[in-house]
Amino acid sequence: MAPGADIAVGELVRSRYGADVVDRLVDPMLGGVYAGRADQLSLRATMPQLARTAETEHTLRGAVRAAQALSKRVPGRPIFAAVGGGMSRLIGAAATAARARISLGLPVREIVRSGSRWHLVLGPAPEPQTDDVDAVILAVPAKPAARLLIDVAPAAAAAIGGLEYASVALVGIALPPGTPLPELSGFLVPPGEGTLVKAATFFTRKWPHLGGPEAPVIVRASLGRAGEEERLHLSDQALLEIAHKELGELAGGELPPAVASWIQRWGGGLPQYAPGHTDRVRAAREALPPGLAVAGAALDGVGIPVCVASGEAAADDVSKYLEAL
Ligand SMILES: Cc1cc2nc3c(=O)[nH]c(=O)nc-3n(C[C@H](O)[C@H](O)[C@H](O)COP(=O)(O)OP(=O)(O)OC[C@H]3O[C@@H](n4cnc5c(N)ncnc54)[C@H](O)[C@@H]3O)c2cc1C
Repeated sequence: MAPGADIAVGELVRSRYGADVVDRLVDPMLGGVYAGRADQLSLRATMPQLARTAETEHTLRGAVRAAQALSKRVPGRPIFAAVGGGMSRLIGAAATAARARISLGLPVREIVRSGSRWHLVLGPAPEPQTDDVDAVILAVPAKPAARLLIDVAPAAAAAIGGLEYASVALVGIALPPGTPLPELSGFLVPPGEGTLVKAATFFTRKWPHLGGPEAPVIVRASLGRAGEEERLHLSDQALLEIAHKELGELAGGELPPAVASWIQRWGGGLPQYAPGHTDRVRAAREALPPGLAVAGAALDGVGIPVCVASGEAAADDVSKYLEAL
């Protein structure tokens, strides 16, 4: 691949290994992470290391091997990690470490340049509040980011605002203790199967500290793919029933009735980076005035570690700007 070029993951893999590998392997994997389709997702944005190694290696196999060699994964350490006590503790810990003034429930509605500073309009339209700040880091999804940037950085707003998102719903099902499941931590489902369930995690197997012989067996199903939002336009009860039925069919046998179940919808939760995304992000950042930075999954990738790195890079940029004032 030419240096700096981009291509849809599906296009690259299909040209080397054929449609079956895309449909049965790559699509389910990308569906699991992005709820997206391999033919629409950018190689450079979703697999940056492979995009880099593909510039110098002559075969896709060589590029994959070279990308794997660059991986920082420690052999023997599990791929997955969780925060003890639940992910929400990460937010609390970050907030405490920041020692910052944090205002919740006050969406920013407007950002206005005010001399060398920024004037923010916050909160509900009938009762607006204002705040004047030295610098701004926008870490919000693409659509609100574009709305807020439209007057202060129109080119950046245009570059960011076109990003599409996929919606998903997560269904949790608690089955009676001892319910047999395949010896897996879960599975991914190729789009061609036509099911609403696109992935399942056998929670109590993936996270054994949550399980035990007396504990319910918990399965989490992920429903919905990019471009199929209307399939989620059903009641919670209907989605729970579909998930329960499909999980049984996919796992190889009817499941017993759930002892408890719950659903969490993530409307527009997962960005769909089309080929050229990283160029658009670079153009957006170049079009930002000093003292205004952008960060987060709309720009630099999904996944909490990437989002943390993106936020830290934005904070560094803004700190350098403030120190130079
Ligand atoms: C179902 C699902 C499962 C996932 N699983 C994993 C996983 O297992 N591991 C992993 O690493 N990642 C996972 N991710 C991805 C990860 O959660 C996200 O990529 C990451 O949280 C994005 O962080 P962010 O700060 O960029 O954006 P967000 O978390 O979307 O935060 C943006 C914030 O901006 C706020 N906001 C919007 N507009 C305004 C405004 N005008 N003013 C003020 N605030 C505003 C929003 O309310 C929101 O709180 C998952 C995502 C989903 C949807």
